[in-house]
Order: sequence, then structure tokens, then C-alpha cells
Amino acid sequence: MSTNDVENVVIIGTGCAGLTAALYAGRANLSPLVLTGQMPGGLLTTTSIVENYPGFAEGIDGYELMLNMQKQAERFGARIRTLQSVEDVDLSKRPFTLTVSDEKILAKAIIITSGASHKHLGLKSERLLEKKGVTYCATCDGALPVFRNQPLVVVGGGDSALEEALYLTRFGSEILVIHRRDALRASKIMQERALHNKKIRFVWDSVIEEIKDVKQDKVTGVVVRNLKTGEKREIPCAGVFVAIGHMPNTQIFKGKLAMDDNGYLIVKKGTQTSVEGIFAGGDCVDSVYRQAVTAAGTGCAAAIDAERYLASLEA
Ligand code: NAP
Repeated sequence: MSTNDVENVVIIGTGCAGLTAALYAGRANLSPLVLTGQMPGGLLTTTSIVENYPGFAEGIDGYELMLNMQKQAERFGARIRTLQSVEDVDLSKRPFTLTVSDEKILAKAIIITSGASHKHLGLKSERLLEKKGVTYCATCDGALPVFRNQPLVVVGGGDSALEEALYLTRFGSEILVIHRRDALRASKIMQERALHNKKIRFVWDSVIEEIKDVKQDKVTGVVVRNLKTGEKREIPCAGVFVAIGHMPNTQIFKGKLAMDDNGYLIVKKGTQTSVEGIFAGGDCVDSVYRQAVTAAGTGCAAAIDAERYLASLEA
């Protein structure tokens, strides 16, 4: 195990928040070390067209947007380590210590932008059929031959679910959106698009009880229960796309930083966490707005806060 020199600032995560923090910290001459984790570019890389990031009148591909952000941060001296994840942190003494594989990294300041991961339904059959017809990303998997011209199920009633459903209309014969209520959470514009699409049908007030068929080792259908009537029925499908929201990637900070009951980090005075010198932004903090542009904004704020904190150490 090796111990390097002390870093000014280590940024954990490279979604919109992390790469914006890297850009600002780079431009402040802090030469930030940026650890991408297992999903470089974050969740936006799994989106097709991003239509609501300002500055792109025709929209921009999510992957391209993130690649541009990375190049922009690197131009100002951000050092990006791809596929490196933090396994443990010691925030009890300064400099802080991060364990990454066999290496100990020391840092004067840390910016946490570790984002969020897809929520699971929590069914045993879901786990056993993951990547065998159960997926969390239509953009990544929707074009697979197994889904072509087949009925497909999307679970959820938010923007993600409708975006997935609309995308899947290119491939599936019919898209069934299964939602646990009779009203959608998604934005009006997405609702209008989905409700007017002839290939999309809604199954209201319903939850999936089981995904079939574990014995055949592939998805053949879902057993759905209507929450109002209690009626159960099986709906044939070749794929289940789960889009029921996200949970923050903050497990390694449990007991070390203040967080709410759902695991979102609690910040005060801008982006400062419960430990001075540790800042946080993006989806691991924000359970309300969760937009690319708000993540970029809080990433920027975290870098400015870190820069001021480092300056105060030298004063
Ligand atoms: P979300 O808004 O939290 O919606 C999650 C949906 O899944 C809700 O409809 C929820 O039902 C349902 N759900 C949650 N847990 C469930 C469970 N265990 N079983 C069944 N259903 C469950 O999450 P999201 O759609 O991922 O969106 C997150 C944020 O990103 C939002 O701010 C959204 O606007 C934004 N976003 C924007 C775009 C876009 O503009 N193109 C695209 C994607 C996401 P209830 O409604 O009953 O709670």
C-alpha cells in the first residue's frame, strides 16, 4: 500500500456535479484529483437526448455532454482517474484519508458528488432475471434483439419511466407502463407525449408481484396486482424496464457524515457537510430537483466553497 503527497482536493464522482466541480477547481489552480467511480459520466450517460440542459437548442446526447464536460475540466488541469472507486474514508483527522484499491490518498478537502443509483423493486425474481430481460436502462439495452417487436413493460410514473417508454416505442411491439397510482408524477410535456403515443398503454394502480419466468432463465411476463381491486393477472412481455427513481450513493459515509433517513447528505452554508473541509453537491445531496443543471450548479458551488476553505487554511 502506498501513500502519496497530500492532494488539495479530491472529487468523488464524475456526473454533472463532479465534472463541474473539477472544472472550477481546475481553473482555481487546485489541480483536483477526480475519481470517476464505476460509472464515469454518471447517470446522464445512460440518457439519449438531453433536452433541458441550457445552451443546446436542439438537445444533446447525454454521453456527448458528459464527454465534453470531462474534456473541459481536463483542459484546466483536472486529473481524472477512470473506474477508480473510494472503498473507505477516514474523516476523523486531517488530512482526510481515502482508500482506493490498495492506495491511500490524502486530501486537504473532499468534494462528494457520488450521485445516485437506480432503485430496484426488491423482488427475488427481479434480481434473478437482471440482465436476462430485467433492466434499468432502456438507452443501454432497448435495442437488444430479444426486445425487438415484443411487448415490453416499463415500471414507474415519473419522467424516467415515460422517457424509457417513449424510447422503447422504437423497438417493442407495445409498451405497457405499470404505475402504482392513477396519476403520473412526470412533467406535463412528457405526460402528453406518452399519453398520445399509440404504442404506449398504461396499467394504473398496479404493482408487479413477480417477474416470470425464473425457471426458463428469461423474462416471459409479469404478474400484476391491482391495488384497488386486488385482482391479479399475468401480462406477457419480453422485457421489464424498471424506472422508479434513484437512491443516493452515500453508503461509505454512513456514520461519518450527517445524512437524512433516505441517505441524502445534509449540507449547510452552501455545500458544506457536517465535517469542515468536506463538501457535497449533485444527486447525493438533492432529493428534490435532481436535474443535470442543478447538479452542475451545486458542483460549481462546492468547488468555490472548497477553494475558500483551502485559502482559509493558508491564511
Ligand atoms: P421520480 O420522479 O422519483 O419518479 C419515480 C416513479 O416511480 C414515481 O412515479 C413513483 O411512484 C414510482 N415508484 C417509486 N418507487 C416505486 C416502487 N417501489 N414500486 C413502484 N413504483 C415506484 O424519479 P424519476 O422519474 O427517475 O425522475 C427523477 C428526477 O429526474 C425528476 O426530477 C425528473 O423530473 C428528472 N428527469 C427528467 C427527465 C427529462 O426531463 N427528460 C428525464 C428523467 C428524469 P409515485 O408517483 O406513486 O411516487
